[in-house]
Amino acid sequence: MNNLADIAAALKDTRSVLICGHVMPDGDSLGSVLALGLILEGMGKKVTMAGADPPPEIYDFLPGLAKYQVGLPPDVEFDTLVIVDCSVPERLGPGFQGLLAGDRDIIILDHHAGSSCPGKYRYIDPSAAAVGEIIYDLIMEMGLKISPEVGMCLYTAIVTDTGSFQYDSTTPDTLRRVANLMEIGVPAAQINVRIYEEKPQAFFQLLCSALSTLTTSRCGKVSWMMVTREMLENVGAKDEHTEGLVNYARSVRGVEVAIFFREIEKSNYKISFRSKDVVDVDKLARQFGGGGHQRASGCTIEGEIDKITSQVVAAAKLAVRNIG
Ligand code: 5GP
Ligand code: MN
Repeated sequence: MNNLADIAAALKDTRSVLICGHVMPDGDSLGSVLALGLILEGMGKKVTMAGADPPPEIYDFLPGLAKYQVGLPPDVEFDTLVIVDCSVPERLGPGFQGLLAGDRDIIILDHHAGSSCPGKYRYIDPSAAAVGEIIYDLIMEMGLKISPEVGMCLYTAIVTDTGSFQYDSTTPDTLRRVANLMEIGVPAAQINVRIYEEKPQAFFQLLCSALSTLTTSRCGKVSWMMVTREMLENVGAKDEHTEGLVNYARSVRGVEVAIFFREIEKSNYKISFRSKDVVDVDKLARQFGGGGHQRASGCTIEGEIDKITSQVVAAAKLAVRNIG
């Protein structure tokens, strides 16, 4: 494991960089890629930013997003590959995983405990609420100034990965960084509106049908919801409109573990786990080949939904029972 000074020195020495985030990019992945990309461009580096999947529409306002290339790895020359917010190679997406076998220097910046992507330089801090915090500290380490544009990307990374500063990963230092970003001129309230209060009508129709699936276990500590392809198609909603729905299950009084099942395609389901106080949902997701953080994790499972639901809910109930 390296320190931020090692990473800063390696970045200062490089001439061209490819920066990648994870599949199905979220605010932290996108905000961290863009903030680092814009900073390195400002240092005169040749920068390429890329990821396997398209960014959700809510992030259209992010400075530099037009430069984020989607699909297969771009055919460009680079000396250094930087991977952010990606706990396992599979999360890079099939096309990007091959880059790990190349002979360029690789820098891993992450906040997942047990993060396993290989790299010459690795900086993993599970106590960071978002990789955006790590990028913020790295910029400070390099002695550079944060522009309002870079600040917007960092704020987005931090506000989304902390669940709007609601999760217990939010620390006094998180808020101090955010306070500094606001002083630089980052329009926090306007960004919050863009991310959380500009939902299309289809989202609300989807929310209605998703809420009709909300079920809570007899013990009252596990709650789950589901969205099928049919539900999405019926209201003309997109996959990205399911982001955050798991929080409705999490916000039921007394619930410790919330689970959200989303049908990706026939017999293939994406599962999101959230916990409130004690259950380690990283461990829970690992039982099904996924992972994440103690309070937010996920996995994908193939099979029939009834069987998947009963297996996953049973595992969640057991996790809740084990904590007493
Ligand atoms: P979400 O439920 O918002 O999709 O994901 C929450 C967190 O769980 C992510 O930030 C990521 O750390 C982790 N995660 C989600 N899906 C997967 C997955 O399929 N595999 C792994 N290893 N982690 C995941
Ligand atoms: Mn993250």
